[in-house]
Amino acid sequence: MTAQFETAVRGPEAYSLARNVIAEMEKAGVWPTPLNFELWMHYLGDPEGPLGREIRRLLAESIVISDQTSEMLAAEFLPRGRLSEEIRDAGAVLDRELASVASAIAKAHKTQADYGETLADASQTMEATEDASTLKSLVGGLSSATKRVRRETAILEKRLESSNKEVARLREHLEQVRRDAMTDALTNLANRKAFDERLEQVCAARDHAPLTLAILDIDHFKRFNDTWGHQTGDQVLRYVSTILSRVCSGNRFVARFGGEEFAIIFPGENTGAVTAALENIREEVSSRSLRRRSTNDDLGAVTISAGFAEHLPGETASALLERADAALYASKRGGRNCVTSAPMLEKAA
Ligand code: C2E
Repeated sequence: MTAQFETAVRGPEAYSLARNVIAEMEKAGVWPTPLNFELWMHYLGDPEGPLGREIRRLLAESIVISDQTSEMLAAEFLPRGRLSEEIRDAGAVLDRELASVASAIAKAHKTQADYGETLADASQTMEATEDASTLKSLVGGLSSATKRVRRETAILEKRLESSNKEVARLREHLEQVRRDAMTDALTNLANRKAFDERLEQVCAARDHAPLTLAILDIDHFKRFNDTWGHQTGDQVLRYVSTILSRVCSGNRFVARFGGEEFAIIFPGENTGAVTAALENIREEVSSRSLRRRSTNDDLGAVTISAGFAEHLPGETASALLERADAALYASKRGGRNCVTSAPMLEKAA
């Protein structure tokens, strides 16, 4: 939560902000659900923050803010998420495990120290006496001290074993939560957060191999949604995602970039290979006539537009993104259902 947002929701203007939020939600055509209210409070409370900029971008591009989009925005921009809760819970379990192991170790340590003292006393007594019954009781004492040490060691071993298992289970669980936090729930592709991280990483690490970024957008998706409803719109998103996943195996990294936009990172692939892959996707997407599952209405073919840019030496992730986006818009302006490369801004289809 930014300091600006904190001030906005607890300052003298807080109620007028809340009223404004309702009015702006109505203007934008989003339902006043609790989640949308929260998103809009953050957006208008800090319009220049990352969430504010993203909502403004969506509105400027007339992208429908469906429940799905709201959830994506919340997962990415709202301060508390499932991941942080899970990490807090895992931290508490780890604390408990560590405290319990530390106490088992302390107990074993004390038993070992007592045992050391018992041995030292026994050694002194043995040197000082030759009396058989004293020696016998000494051996009896040593034997039970040894049993005690063995028992404590076995308890400690068991405790460590179960603690190891618990830590391994937690690690697996957290790995799953981390994967979920990086995955778009509708399409199962990587989400925007995962994409942003990957793009920064590959741009920073690029050596001499080519690196290309493509942005793809479903043509007239809004019209599609408005005509057939969000559920059918979601199926179209899944349809395109299935094809993208199939074509983008290996090193290629495909993500749902936002609404009906997708992004693909092509590490080590030059313009020729990327053009061929995008053309393949474009043709495959448009090759089928879809049907509305609930009514069997013919939905016709879906088409996509794409733009791509090859990374220039030293170029930042956001500059690369901007060039790929400009190429995508060239495809849109050029009549859609085509692929455009950024450097030449020529239609490849
Ligand atoms: P889904 O509905 O979960 O379907 C998964 C896969 O099951 C499909 O993969 C397809 O192989 C098969 N399948 C499901 N329903 C049918 C059907 O009525 N007829 C046939 N022949 N096969 C079916 P596919 O084709 O790659 O589609 C992936 C996703 O794309 C689907 O997931 C669905 O969400 C969407 N989709 C694909 N085609 C259509 C369509 O014609 N209409 C609608 N509404 N959605 C579609």
